[in-house]
Amino acid sequence: RLINPAATPQVTQDLSNNVVLTTLNDLYNWSRMSSLWPMLYGTSCCFIEFAAMIGSRFDFDRFGLLPRSSPRQADLIITAGTVTMKMAPALVRLYEQMQEPKYVIAMGACTITGGMFSTDSYTTVRGVDKLIPVDVYIPGCPPRPEAIMDAIIKLRKKIGTEGFKERANLDRTHRYYAVKHE
Ligand code: SF4
Repeated sequence: RLINPAATPQVTQDLSNNVVLTTLNDLYNWSRMSSLWPMLYGTSCCFIEFAAMIGSRFDFDRFGLLPRSSPRQADLIITAGTVTMKMAPALVRLYEQMQEPKYVIAMGACTITGGMFSTDSYTTVRGVDKLIPVDVYIPGCPPRPEAIMDAIIKLRKKIGTEGFKERANLDRTHRYYAVKHE
């Protein structure tokens, strides 16, 4: 029997919290957070620290992270380094080509605020979150690999508590054109 949500709000609320759906939700979240595939994206010095993460010393494969060269095979992008105005449309294009549900980690002062280019520079985007929605920020210049690991753990925790609909309702309105004409 079809349930009219307007007529029975309590029933639909109970259904959305029932044990089957919440267990499925947990399983779905567990599988997503255990197999994040980051796209290889680095524009300047921060990427050196990110590259160190891939080596055996820090070994981020143990988190289920498998670096990909194609955005179509990735669901995570770690923006490591300065984002220039010229690079901005390419970054937005790459983000749009990534698989849903997808996540963004902003790594380093340059990515987060423009860093040393945040004043007197017309070439640098002053905050990658003006282009794409960021889930976790890693401050530092450059952040150490341990800080990247911390960000991955924070992102995994965030994914672990997401509901089915939460991600779908995320505002993905890109503001590239606003930035371009600032
Ligand atoms: Fe380079 Fe520092 Fe900027 Fe990272 S935050 S890209 S290390 S200048």
